[in-house]
Amino acid sequence: MNAIKREDIVAHLADGKKAWDVVIIGGGATGLGAAVDAASRGYQTLLLEQADFAKGTSSRSTKLVHGGVRYLAQGDIGLVREALYERGLLLKNAAHLVKNESFVIPNYEWWGGAFYTIGLTMYDLLAGKLGFGRAKHISKDKVISKLGTIQPKNLYGGVVYHDGQFDDARLAVNLAQTALEQGATVLNYFKVVNLTKAADGKINGVVVCDAETGESYTIKSKVVINATGVFVDEILKMDKPEVRPMVRPSQGVHIVLDRSFMPGEDALMIPKTDDGRVLFAVPWHDKLVVGTTDTPIDEHSLEPSALETEIDFIMRTAAKYLVKAPTRKDVLSVFAGLRPLAAPESGSSKTKEISRSHKLIVSDSNLVTITGGKWTTYRRMGEDTIDKAIEIGGLSPIPNKTKTLRIHGSKTDVNREDHLYVYGSDQEALSALAKENPGWSKKLHPRMPYTQVEVIWGIRYEFARSVEDILARRVRALFLDARAAIDMAPIVAKLIAAELNKDDVWQQQQVNSFSQMAQTYLLEPYLPKA
Ligand SMILES: Cc1cc2nc3c(=O)[nH]c(=O)nc-3n(C[C@H](O)[C@H](O)[C@H](O)COP(=O)(O)OP(=O)(O)OC[C@H]3O[C@@H](n4cnc5c(N)ncnc54)[C@H](O)[C@@H]3O)c2cc1C
Repeated sequence: MNAIKREDIVAHLADGKKAWDVVIIGGGATGLGAAVDAASRGYQTLLLEQADFAKGTSSRSTKLVHGGVRYLAQGDIGLVREALYERGLLLKNAAHLVKNESFVIPNYEWWGGAFYTIGLTMYDLLAGKLGFGRAKHISKDKVISKLGTIQPKNLYGGVVYHDGQFDDARLAVNLAQTALEQGATVLNYFKVVNLTKAADGKINGVVVCDAETGESYTIKSKVVINATGVFVDEILKMDKPEVRPMVRPSQGVHIVLDRSFMPGEDALMIPKTDDGRVLFAVPWHDKLVVGTTDTPIDEHSLEPSALETEIDFIMRTAAKYLVKAPTRKDVLSVFAGLRPLAAPESGSSKTKEISRSHKLIVSDSNLVTITGGKWTTYRRMGEDTIDKAIEIGGLSPIPNKTKTLRIHGSKTDVNREDHLYVYGSDQEALSALAKENPGWSKKLHPRMPYTQVEVIWGIRYEFARSVEDILARRVRALFLDARAAIDMAPIVAKLIAAELNKDDVWQQQQVNSFSQMAQTYLLEPYLPKA
């Protein structure tokens, strides 16, 4: 595998010789899915991300690859069937990162067992040949043997069903690598600051700024795709300042706890909390992710912060179902993400709702905007988007190839006991790299499994540019144990500085800015030992 040389990619972009078919704005699940789709069909594809890949919502999910039991309850069969089909494809195409997880619904009402078994059997049937295993009713004793810390008082029994679970940010990085291997150019830390138009008012390119150098470039393209999640309205305004908002963000929060709060391999699903929401407690790496909430908000940012009411709600609900009630001190990390919920109809005659799961619209200027949906359906969203781009840009039609396209790293026989399994087919090369320097096999922190070589690997092969890129999205330390992540920042900065030829001032700035940001993932301030 060749190391990624950012300078070479930028020089290639700057020479202006390339005629792009498709420029995609946004490097979350949606934009990356569109880039993989376009490049694998053979179109000249450029993806531009203002921060790091998956810096936005795509690193802040519940980590489920699922049809959405909630949508089934709402009677949205088409949506569930589509997502279950995509779940099946993801298990095959990103086999190293997606796993079959069993979920237990504890029943505290006599009717719960039969009710949920029927509903979830339907869920399984909708998955057809791509099913993950049948739901079944289990006794109270079996619930307790699976979830040792579940509240036993008034428990009648439970239902076990199956769904998928994954590492969201790592899948995003692997998608960026897949897009590159399929011939796309992908750049993080490149912000689109304007759109360019031809004399007829149709969009024919973008103006983009390299966040590292401050340099701007004007890039021409047959089609421009706006895949910026909760930021879509900012791009739509560049096209038409008076445009009506398309998205209303809804915030979702998770807390991360030690596995002692719910040991074992099964996940817990509460289908109806006190306020009628769904709550999950899912084992993830060696911790427990508990969430989520759904709070409409007016502001959006790349670093949304959890509201006290959201944290309280999760803690209270967890305390109701687990025998050991978590306290604020027990929270290892808290993270918030913004759902790009599609606002109601925009009124434009050209607006076309392709599916209830996501919104795909074409503006009068030919700007293609895709938003909504979920991580699980990113591939289908990419396919719909590029089908539309072919029509809008007059590209010669080439059929979609992503249903069977293996994502970078995909490997079936991974050993999940070894934390390096997330690298899939790259694991061997990463272990070989560790042997090049005696220090690189050392752990970054006594509480975490990560080793120094993962920093080197992230910089050389996975587009990482900063301490945050490594600690938040290449390894998941910030999300799993924010205090440990703060402790790790200086050594990570030092390793990156050696790779990227940065000085001491850069290292100090990186440590300071990361540590400041990481404090917002904690409920109490943390002072690392000097
Ligand atoms: C709390 C929560 C839990 C969820 N859980 C699940 C789950 O378990 N399973 C599931 O399937 N789905 C889940 N989802 C949904 C899923 O996470 C999202 O649908 C998906 O991540 C959205 O991806 P996106 O690419 O559209 O947006 P984003 O990931 O936000 O990506 C948009 C990107 O555009 C970039 N951008 C913005 N403006 C510019 C610009 N001017 N120039 C360049 N780049 C720009 C941003 O930096 C950002 O990286 C969850 C969502 C939330 C909020």
